[in-house]
Amino acid sequence: MIETIAHDDVTEWRCSSWSSRLAGYTASAFLTADGVLIDSGIPAVSDEFAALVGRTKVRGAMITHHHEDHAGNSETLAARGIPLWIADATKQYLTAIERVRAYRRYTWHSMAPLRSSVIPFAAPRYAAIATPGHTDDHHAIWDAESRTVFTGDLFLGIGVMIAHHGEDPWAMVASLERVARLSPVRMFDAHRGAVRDPVSALRAKARWIRDTVAQITEGLHRGDSDRTIVQRTMGGESMTGWASAGEYSRRNFVRNVRDGLARGADPAMPSTA
Ligand SMILES: [Zn+2]
Repeated sequence: MIETIAHDDVTEWRCSSWSSRLAGYTASAFLTADGVLIDSGIPAVSDEFAALVGRTKVRGAMITHHHEDHAGNSETLAARGIPLWIADATKQYLTAIERVRAYRRYTWHSMAPLRSSVIPFAAPRYAAIATPGHTDDHHAIWDAESRTVFTGDLFLGIGVMIAHHGEDPWAMVASLERVARLSPVRMFDAHRGAVRDPVSALRAKARWIRDTVAQITEGLHRGDSDRTIVQRTMGGESMTGWASAGEYSRRNFVRNVRDGLARGADPAMPSTA
């Protein structure tokens, strides 16, 4: 199902499947007034998405990162000759799609790999800002004219404890601060829609990650087990953590901190703001 929601001059295409609604998740693409689509919806709604694109003036699309709830119908767009902006790293992920784990297939369905040739899309008004952390290929899309930022999965909420293994909390804090420094007045999150007071929200999330990393680091230095750290700092594992067999879990937050410390990252997380 795709619900269209107007936010002044930006239209949200809120995508969900019955299984994603059951899990409480939606994922949105956003269409600007001048026909630029940010992200491409979820694979579960591919027919509806193709029909909607067919009756909408889309002059190009920009993809924030390779996850199937953001890049889900990129092949549909490319096959229709709609120009795409995709980071090289994202394009590589999309042409060689790894089989996603069961819970993600269940929620969003599997996405078709990118096979059609891509017509490059450049809209000078919209800048792709590298915002790694959630994934290494993540970009936010910045419209300086209206001071609007489309943040993909950069924000998601302030105290989001569940993570994929491989997320980088240090890079995430730097990315949050990078976008906060742009002083956006409007922010669109793929899973939360319009977010009020973007600069405070981005800074609050950066602060929360710093504090949580500090607590986890203390636990790791004490020699606590992951389970104990999850219990003490985050109140135990989440339902999603159990349902995804750990693939998307609070324990991964701890693993990501441990990996960062092993790479020599500074547990004090100095501010770049
Ligand atoms: Zn994602």
